[in-house]
Amino acid sequence: MTLALLSSALTSKPSNPFFSRNPCPPRSSIPLPFIFADVKPSKKQSMDGRTSAPRGKNSNTKKRSSYGTSRRSIIKKSFSQEQVVFTSPVVSDPVVGIIGGGIAGLVCAATLEERGIRSTVFDTGMHGLGGRMATRLIECEQQLVFDHAAQFFTVSDSKFQKLVERWLSQGLVREWKGLVGELEVGGHFKPIPSSSPRYVGVNGMKHLADSILCQKTMVNIVRPCWISQLDPFNGRWHLSEKGKLHGQFDAIVIAHNGKCANRLLSSSGLPLLTKQMKRLELSAIWALLAAFKDPLPISCNGTSSAFEGAFVKGIDSVSWMANNASKLFPSHNGLPQCWTFFSTAAYGKQNKVPQESIPAITAEKVKKDMLGGVETALGLTKGTFPLPFYTRVQLWGAALPTNTPATPFIFDPQGRGGICGDWLLGSSVESAALSGMGLANHIADYFQSEGAHSDEFAVGLQDAFRLVPGHDIGQFPGTNYGEQICKSPIAVAG
Ligand SMILES: Cc1cc2nc3c(=O)[nH]c(=O)nc-3n(C[C@H](O)[C@H](O)[C@H](O)COP(=O)(O)OP(=O)(O)OC[C@H]3O[C@@H](n4cnc5c(N)ncnc54)[C@H](O)[C@@H]3O)c2cc1C
Repeated sequence: MTLALLSSALTSKPSNPFFSRNPCPPRSSIPLPFIFADVKPSKKQSMDGRTSAPRGKNSNTKKRSSYGTSRRSIIKKSFSQEQVVFTSPVVSDPVVGIIGGGIAGLVCAATLEERGIRSTVFDTGMHGLGGRMATRLIECEQQLVFDHAAQFFTVSDSKFQKLVERWLSQGLVREWKGLVGELEVGGHFKPIPSSSPRYVGVNGMKHLADSILCQKTMVNIVRPCWISQLDPFNGRWHLSEKGKLHGQFDAIVIAHNGKCANRLLSSSGLPLLTKQMKRLELSAIWALLAAFKDPLPISCNGTSSAFEGAFVKGIDSVSWMANNASKLFPSHNGLPQCWTFFSTAAYGKQNKVPQESIPAITAEKVKKDMLGGVETALGLTKGTFPLPFYTRVQLWGAALPTNTPATPFIFDPQGRGGICGDWLLGSSVESAALSGMGLANHIADYFQSEGAHSDEFAVGLQDAFRLVPGHDIGQFPGTNYGEQICKSPIAVAG
């Protein structure tokens, strides 16, 4: 793996890539390895003589809109941005820029390498990669370890199964055999039969994310880096962070979502991607990390072993609780008990604040509500729940998708841009990984086709959205937990 900051020498940033009177910068300022035909704004007739509306399997050319039938006018009026159309020939040695180093972006980069394509992954992570596969390490007398978003994952798809088997053989994941079940108010615990194995990252989910690209030689990682601008210019995408150019790419992948992705796409020249991204809705979930000196008073209906994870029912402030100490370090006795608690999405919505600056008063309230919720769930007398010696609350403001287009990925061949992420298929580690893998293979096929019948590579640009259940904790395909995607499409805005 090459951990390299991309050329900061490429300082010249294109001003107006579409309509600049002098679109080509002096060669000395941007040493392009390839010079392509320039990017054109969308026209009814594109350079190769075909009509420009995508005719891929998912495009819906019959659909009329209140803006009329001309796609160009729809785009203009809806999104105030013109569609980028790359007319330059595809190159034989393309490089892909991937914005987002969560599991979707990482698997996308790894799969591109398997197909012989170079990429750079940009991620905002200060301490590592992984996004919502996050593990927090706290240095106290003894180190405290908490998985504070994804808790475990399941496998239902054979392609993901193969990947997980590789991770197993590399020692990056292992099966979590601890007792997991449903906890109802009053301490009524019911084990969930493990019909499908539950996997966890060895030493935490973040360690898995940080390791996925370790052996890769065709992937650059740039972090911490917040890509804030996408500019199509001279046949390539120029990616920059606050005016600083971070490289040029033959295709781009948006591997993140939420407000940040909406902002990034809003002036990108990719209105169809923008439109789909804007339809996505996300839940908010509070996480409480709490460490206790002694084991929690859990009885498990008289069974000898205490549960390690439970989906909590009937309490607004708690939907899940798991003991990281026994989950991650089953053979170590005497470790402090590090528990992760999640609220429901309903509680997250009621108590939403800006996640970057949580008011102290809100943090205190949430902590009290959540610990009180656990006390009630366990059926303890009020005020008897043990006091944690360490706590931290965090709001996942863009936690889990509540709707999905149920397409593995989105790709716009005209703009040579795609989207991958959990929300395209559901709300789980598996759906994110499959999405990244699917998009990488599609991009590889697109480049291999050398641009022939490019429109046929359009995917997911018009797909309707459906509800996705399981947004309190996510989906666990292969189990009976929140795995089914709602069959009926819901109303599509705009
Ligand atoms: C509280 C919670 C609990 C969960 N529990 C489970 C579980 O137990 N099992 C399960 O299977 N799933 C679970 N999930 C869901 C799972 O974590 C996600 O589905 C999956 O991790 C999403 O991966 P992703 O790559 O699509 O997105 P992300 O992990 O969100 O990755 C996106 C990355 O892009 C980065 N980024 C954003 N903007 C930019 C930018 N402009 N420039 C550069 N980088 C950028 C972000 O920092 C982030 O690292 C849970 C999620 C949450 C929030």
